[in-house]
Amino acid sequence: MKVYKGKSVYKGIAMGNVVVLKNKDLQIKRYRVEDVEAELARVDQAGKRAKEQLQKLYDKVLKEVGEANAAIFEVHQMMLEDEDYLDAIHSMVRTEHVNAEYAVAVTGDNFSQMFANMDDDYMKARAADVKDISNRLVQILKGQEEVDFSSMEPAIIVADDLSPSETVQMDKEKILAFITVHGSANSHTAILARMMNIPALVGVKVDIQEIHTGTKAVVDGLLGEVTFEPSEELCEQTRKRLEEEKEKLQLLQTLKGKETITLDGKKIHLYANIASVGDVGYVLENDGEGIGLFRSEFLYLGRNDFPTEEEQFQAYKQVAQTMAGKKVIIRTLDIGADKQVDYFQLGQEDNPAMGYRAIRICLKQPEIFKTQLRALLRAAVFGNISIMYPMIISVEEVREIDRIVKEVQEELNKVQIPYKIPEQGVMIETPAAVMISDELAELVDFFSIGTNDLTQYTLAVDRQNEKLDDFYNPHHKAILKMIQMVVENAHKCGKWAGICGELGADLELTEEFVRMGVDELSVAPSMVLKVRKRIREIKGI
Ligand code: PEP
Ligand code: MG
Repeated sequence: MKVYKGKSVYKGIAMGNVVVLKNKDLQIKRYRVEDVEAELARVDQAGKRAKEQLQKLYDKVLKEVGEANAAIFEVHQMMLEDEDYLDAIHSMVRTEHVNAEYAVAVTGDNFSQMFANMDDDYMKARAADVKDISNRLVQILKGQEEVDFSSMEPAIIVADDLSPSETVQMDKEKILAFITVHGSANSHTAILARMMNIPALVGVKVDIQEIHTGTKAVVDGLLGEVTFEPSEELCEQTRKRLEEEKEKLQLLQTLKGKETITLDGKKIHLYANIASVGDVGYVLENDGEGIGLFRSEFLYLGRNDFPTEEEQFQAYKQVAQTMAGKKVIIRTLDIGADKQVDYFQLGQEDNPAMGYRAIRICLKQPEIFKTQLRALLRAAVFGNISIMYPMIISVEEVREIDRIVKEVQEELNKVQIPYKIPEQGVMIETPAAVMISDELAELVDFFSIGTNDLTQYTLAVDRQNEKLDDFYNPHHKAILKMIQMVVENAHKCGKWAGICGELGADLELTEEFVRMGVDELSVAPSMVLKVRKRIREIKGI
């Protein structure tokens, strides 16, 4: 047995076999090959494999989020059959006697450059696609294939680190737990694990080269421990605990359909957080009364180009319709910091958490913002949508947002497209927003307190920095006083205030939040019934 400690981000238990995700090393060496025909056969074989992978991706995305999002994988398959591209690779192997990886990488770079220099915007956008298919071929040639989640048995994923876009693309049904060597407990990857109800440990100092796919492991989120090659005794204990967990979950099921109300009749709106259209199922399964935070930026991650207005419209409409009249609060894109997307070309920043992100991008690049707003206003016709804006620091920003929303409204009027102006609120996640919450309350319909960022900015503790996890204390008096102040300022103006940061699900604070007058809590779907249980036990409010 090999036992390692880590920081637990979701306190569940899991047992199963490990799948190790090795970091993709895209460094390519050039070497001379003698058997040119064999090398060409490798290229063709890799092409076939890539097409199979893309077909599977196409089928999966088509089923989960529809044709518009899946189309890109069809385009990639077609590009893999492009004669000019394939001829260029073949001819390089033949004439220069170079290895397949090198020929593919160089051809990919050349073609990508050629597309990037074209005048037509559509062709320009293909530059990233050529790069993508070339990278895929190189990975296959180097034997670094992506894990095929569709044929994989459910497993414990072990990785050096995982980015939010990698995490969100994984098939949740196939993941028993996450173990990462790096990563902070407050990162978006950790938040996603919690949202997906998946036991996860970060900062596990294991040598990833020594752990092999197929090794058995037990993950204990309560102890913050993973045991590789567990003894039969530990396996037996874990089986029993998994049974007990199942029974506890079944008990919670009895709270489905019940009101979220204190013993004295105070009602709290209990909503859930989601990152993708596919997560709506978890909200309904756990009886969320609405969606308090749809992190819309995940629609922008893991792709090569901006989602179109139509793609976004379909996604928001689908969520609104599935929630059938229940509130759906969609946050406008919060790209930047740990959520990086190449095509935004944000550039390197010394301090990205305090950098060019979220509403700042939207106000500086209003064409990106307006596309999203148009999609949101149009989708609002199909359900109970609210919009909220992240990372607000000033009254002027809210006025500027208002001006842009009016412009979008006029544009839609002109072309006679149906829309609705929904309820609009702001996230309170900077100390500045807290201190001017009296003024902000006059301009907006509601506040949603983002305690994850509010903690990082108030305590000057980078939430991504794993070394600082012990300093990241959302229970700090400063944070609790800020929450109280925000709620009071909202109520003075007749507006409501909720919490959508992770602290909203902290059962130790539920009673305090209710006493403060917090109107809404938006939590990971897996936490809805636990928070409801806690609220229903509160007396004297
Ligand atoms: C927050 O900051 O609390 C929040 C909800 O937003 P995110 O975690 O996505 O930054
Ligand atoms: Mg935030």
